[in-house]
Amino acid sequence: MDDCIFCKIIAGEIPSSRVYEDELIYVFKDINPKASVHLLVIPKQHIARLDHATQEHASLIAHMMLSLPKIAESQGLDNGFRTIINTGPGGGQEVDHLHIHILGGAKMPGFN
Ligand code: 5GP
Ligand code: ZN
Repeated sequence: MDDCIFCKIIAGEIPSSRVYEDELIYVFKDINPKASVHLLVIPKQHIARLDHATQEHASLIAHMMLSLPKIAESQGLDNGFRTIINTGPGGGQEVDHLHIHILGGAKMPGFN
C-alpha cells in the first residue's frame, strides 16, 4: 500500500524505533506512548484491519500472537502486559494497517 505509513515504516521510508523484526513481523515503539512501554506489532504484509484477515492469514496471526510474550519480556515486562487491537472507526483504529498494541510498565492507563 503506497500511502500506508506503517508500510513506509517497514520499508524504512519513515524512521521508527525498532525493537524486533523477523521475516513476518516488525515491532517498534509507539510515537505517542500511553504507558512506559508501548509497542506496536505489525505484519510486514499489509492487512488493513483485523476484520480483513482471512483463513489464509491464520499462521501469520498466530505468529504475531505467539511472539508477544518474548517481545514484551525483552522490553522488561516480566510481570505481564496488555494487548489491544483497535478495529475500524468504531474501535478507534487510526492507522489502517493491522497492529497489536503492547502496553505495560509504569503509567499504565486504567482499563477496568
Ligand atoms: P490505533 O489508534 O490505530 O490503534 O493506533 C495507532 C497508533 O499508531 C497510535 O498509538 C499512534 O500513536 C501510533 N502512530 C501513528 N503514527 C505513527 C508513526 O509515524 N510512528 C509511530 N512510531 N507510531 C505512530
Ligand atoms: Zn500497510
